Amino acid sequence: MNETKEVILVEIQSNFIKTIIEQDLASGKHKEIITRFPPEPNGFLHIGHARAVVINFELAKHFGGYTNLRYDDTNPTKEDDVYVKAILEDIRWLGYEPKNIFFASDYFAEMFKRALILIDKGLAYVDHSSAEDIARQRGNLTTAGVESPYRHRAIEDNKALFLDMKAGKFKEGECVLRAKIDMKSPNMNMRDPVIYRISYAEHHNTGKTWCIYPMYDYAHPLEDAIEGITHSLCSLEFEDHRPLYDWFVRETEMPDIPRQIEFGRLGIENTVMSKRLLRTLVEEGKVIGWDDPRMPTLSGLRRRGYTPASIRHFILSAGLSKINSNIGIDMLEAALRDDLSASARRAMAVIDPLKVTVTNYPEDKIEYIEAPWHIEKPEMGTKKVAFSRHLYIETEDFVIEKPNKKFKRLSVGDEVRLFNAYFIKCHDVVKDENGHVKEVLVTYDPETLSGSGFSARKPNGTIHFVEASKAVPATFHFFGPMIKEEETGDLMMRFNPASWTSQAGYVEAALEEVSDGDKFQLIRNGYFSIDPSSTPGKPVLNEIVPLKSSYK
Ligand code: ATP
Ligand code: MG
Repeated sequence: MNETKEVILVEIQSNFIKTIIEQDLASGKHKEIITRFPPEPNGFLHIGHARAVVINFELAKHFGGYTNLRYDDTNPTKEDDVYVKAILEDIRWLGYEPKNIFFASDYFAEMFKRALILIDKGLAYVDHSSAEDIARQRGNLTTAGVESPYRHRAIEDNKALFLDMKAGKFKEGECVLRAKIDMKSPNMNMRDPVIYRISYAEHHNTGKTWCIYPMYDYAHPLEDAIEGITHSLCSLEFEDHRPLYDWFVRETEMPDIPRQIEFGRLGIENTVMSKRLLRTLVEEGKVIGWDDPRMPTLSGLRRRGYTPASIRHFILSAGLSKINSNIGIDMLEAALRDDLSASARRAMAVIDPLKVTVTNYPEDKIEYIEAPWHIEKPEMGTKKVAFSRHLYIETEDFVIEKPNKKFKRLSVGDEVRLFNAYFIKCHDVVKDENGHVKEVLVTYDPETLSGSGFSARKPNGTIHFVEASKAVPATFHFFGPMIKEEETGDLMMRFNPASWTSQAGYVEAALEEVSDGDKFQLIRNGYFSIDPSSTPGKPVLNEIVPLKSSYK
């Protein structure tokens, strides 16, 4: 193997959750490790979710167990099948296959049955208080809660009323089912939380079957227990909910007892991450969709050209702790460059074209020079690079007069090497009526074809080019941060419409036929990915990341 360095982490490192699982296996508490990724299907997954996906799948895999995908679809008003499909696609793209795909709504009957157990044990009651009254009764962090006037209803009454709720005999908001726990608990979550509410909205999965829906805090532990999840991993904000989680599993008499463990959320600096905010950007038409290449969604990153390996590596190398972390995008970009440097084919493109005429090259001749797709990877094969009298170079690669010794590009009287081709020497320019250079006149030296005996002369740098008649017209997209950092205030006001710019140029002929998602290192220009809006013979390329970090 000729791998120079093992840049991509593929194994989960030691962390506090891994240690807990090791202990649970050693003590015989569990024989098999089962985890789950439980998204709410109310938006697309973002890079923060990727941490939860990678952690759940990698931990189970490490211990020979498995991971379920479970859609937490207990809120009929916000969910949509579009999200259900997109979430699965993103998980698969990241490189993971769930063992089972479940819906929380599959368990509605079981959850209902378990709520009856709570009522039978005197641990749940139907409350006719208004939402505002319930909020008031629950008090706050400094004031203990007070009991609802409905708290001491007879078990039989509660049962009959709950069945009436299910039968559609009440209006939305008329009553709820509450757990009867402890109105004086220092933990607000334990102050008789609502566990069922009435909603007549149509559910994406169960349609009109139900008009009562379990609240997240009640549903989630039961879903885990039903599936036999051994370790229920979630982000830090659920820490205070853990006593309630354990209470529901215990009091509903679930045979299998999952253990909830919280970890810190992953954030990326200067990015909006919450699904609610991302949805607003989509709905307001600020971005072209959830997969806009500027979005921190997995579908956006995919369209931009990020690789799943770089995202996995980024997550794994950032480690896991009980603290929320905000990480600079440069860490992810570094992982990306490592991956692309090894895997992306090299190609030439001229993004801002300037005409070059090779005056000593015959008009009717065109030649093809064989060049490797990747100099260190001969197994990637070769391509044919066209060369003729008519070429394009980057506008910025030419100045009439060399400004200083460090200028390693073309100027009048100077010689440069063209990548994969010959030395050219500039002897004149053609200007337009405004005095701008519109064409550069050069001669080439046939003795200097790449690799053949040009060592005697040292050119003034090496630049890239494309041959004009075979060049393929292409559009290049460039992206910056879509949210202005320095300003505060409303997200829509901070949105930067200039975060997406485009440029029309050319790619070399070998890129005439490409597929969506093909990635290239465009020599001296950066890493680019073929956008799905490309049409035959007219590629559209997204800049994934520049060649070098601009971070100091
Ligand atoms: P958001 O707050 O961004 O809208 P969410 O937490 O509501 O996301 P869910 O669909 O409920 O989204 O999340 C599914 C899983 O992903 C949960 O277990 C959640 O803890 C986890 N998760 C969501 N965001 C992050 C994050 N930034 N870092 C780590 N885990 C996350
Ligand atoms: Mg959530």
